[in-house]
Amino acid sequence: MPGRKALRADIIAGMEHNMEGQGMFNYRFDEIEKQTTGIIFNIEHFHVHDGEGIRTNVFLKGCSLHCPWCCNPESICPAPQIAQYQKLCTGCGKCAEACPERCCIRKEDGYVITDFSKCSVCGKCVSVCPAGARELFGKRMSVSEVIAEVEKDSAYFLNSDGGLTLSGGEACLQPEFARELIRAAHRRYIPAALETAGAVEWERLWKAAEEADEILMDLKTTVSMQFEKIGRFSLETVTTNLRMLAEAGKNITLRCPIIPDFNDHEGHIQKIAETAGNVGVKKIDLLPFHQLGRHKYAAIGRNYRMADYPEIKDTDVKKMAETLRKQGFQVSIGG
Ligand code: SF4
Ligand code: SF4
Ligand code: SF4
Repeated sequence: MPGRKALRADIIAGMEHNMEGQGMFNYRFDEIEKQTTGIIFNIEHFHVHDGEGIRTNVFLKGCSLHCPWCCNPESICPAPQIAQYQKLCTGCGKCAEACPERCCIRKEDGYVITDFSKCSVCGKCVSVCPAGARELFGKRMSVSEVIAEVEKDSAYFLNSDGGLTLSGGEACLQPEFARELIRAAHRRYIPAALETAGAVEWERLWKAAEEADEILMDLKTTVSMQFEKIGRFSLETVTTNLRMLAEAGKNITLRCPIIPDFNDHEGHIQKIAETAGNVGVKKIDLLPFHQLGRHKYAAIGRNYRMADYPEIKDTDVKKMAETLRKQGFQVSIGG
């Protein structure tokens, strides 16, 4: 596996080779970057997880799974959507006046609720809300717009061996956009990691993953029946995709959420070790369940089923990490 510096040198060497004779090439790349668009719901700077060094994370909207513990529930629906944070609402009524669909409804107590089923996501309520109680999740952006934002952090990437991370949602559901974003990053000498749950057809996964420098691949469970409850793909799809990525020589880290009453037991940790060992993956991130995303469920009108679940104890996760380290894996907690 090449080191990070060698990887960056490879990218630069590859680009210099590809861009010999320039002119038309630059014009063509410009056009591709302007014309290729995707729906994203966030760009976050200065992440220290989700890949090596300092990362800028681009979150693509749409997911093929519906994990009940998801801390980004706004990522699941592929289309833009509106959120209302009831706690911030002052009941001023400006959204109700602005809403063309009459889906901001004033209640008897003076506060306003949203009928999401009628919302056309025009965004008018967001711009008039003086309390910051409304938010629009998701907007269509071109590769050139996204990469311009990512490129602002180039100096941090260089000093930390960091780069761009494509996250979600499931980035591979927008494979053309993901691929072109990775290419755009490489044209600017920025390494790119792809985060995926692997629950997509191989063709889509590979289109997004082929040119990524690192793959952060989720392993939610090692039990087929459990996996069927969180998505329409089989666990076998995920493990086959994992094997094929490994056979293609990709630099993979397995990302394993540890969820109470789901997979927080020693048997699962042993299965993670087996799965990783079988495909030669050495790096494992354990991601303990937390409640940081809970406020977003009500805001987008979704039911949150894990409100009463306790967070996983530090000592328990450390023990799991130790079990894996003893078997020769490099393990991080929290990514
Ligand atoms: S986004 Fe438009 S339609 Fe939806 S609640 Fe706001 S104003 Fe109404
Ligand atoms: S505009 Fe904002 S603060 Fe005013 S009622 Fe609507 S959501 Fe509440
Ligand atoms: S795969 Fe990730 S983004 Fe999709 S539902 Fe599960 S936790 Fe959320």
